[in-house]
Amino acid sequence: MALPGRLPSKIYPTISGAKARPTPDAPLDAGQCRAYFKVMTVRAIIEVPDERLKTISTPVDAVTDDTRALMDDMVDTMYAANGIGLAAIQVGVSQRIVVMDISPSEEEVADGDASGDDAPSREDRYDLDGLEEEKLRYFVNPEITWVSDEMANYQEGCLSVPGFYDDVERPAQCRVKFLDYHGVEQEIDCDGLLATCIQHELDHLNGIVFLDHLSRLKRQMILKKIRKASRDAEVA
Ligand SMILES: [Zn+2]
Repeated sequence: MALPGRLPSKIYPTISGAKARPTPDAPLDAGQCRAYFKVMTVRAIIEVPDERLKTISTPVDAVTDDTRALMDDMVDTMYAANGIGLAAIQVGVSQRIVVMDISPSEEEVADGDASGDDAPSREDRYDLDGLEEEKLRYFVNPEITWVSDEMANYQEGCLSVPGFYDDVERPAQCRVKFLDYHGVEQEIDCDGLLATCIQHELDHLNGIVFLDHLSRLKRQMILKKIRKASRDAEVA
């Protein structure tokens, strides 16, 4: 999933390779050292109207080192595109795997700090509910086991539908059961942006993109614009 106002990150390169060396006058902190030595693998993200996005992904038998390597690549890919969630099918792998980080980007944190005491706190803006410590989340074989009657509206975007955002109504809260990065079964209650994002990503595992929640007219209009843009890109 993508949020309006977030552009692809300038921090991360968009092709595979090591993270850029920090400028010599900037002091290195531990995080930068780790990032510098970690080789990133950014995979290509499939975009609509690619038929592969309609695939129903298959459950993962066991969380192995291969599964974790795929999840690591998905995380690099999600951050490089400045997304907040990514399903494996979006990089062409039809396994029931999702990665997610709904915490505010560095730019959003800086904006929040700059806007003074009257500005809503990050927690309020993102409805994080104290979940910030666990920034990065991994969901293998996620299943929604409960949804609230209460509904919520969020302006959603998608890394597979770049540049388009629209309101989607979904249950405001849900409970999700899944295997974590280590293959351990977990169950969590989700609210706010987390609830919206997990439902958006679970849709991907079932071959659904957020456009399918919009009116037929809106969906066709967006798809027409995307087809035109890709035709124009071919000509250029
Ligand atoms: Zn999406």
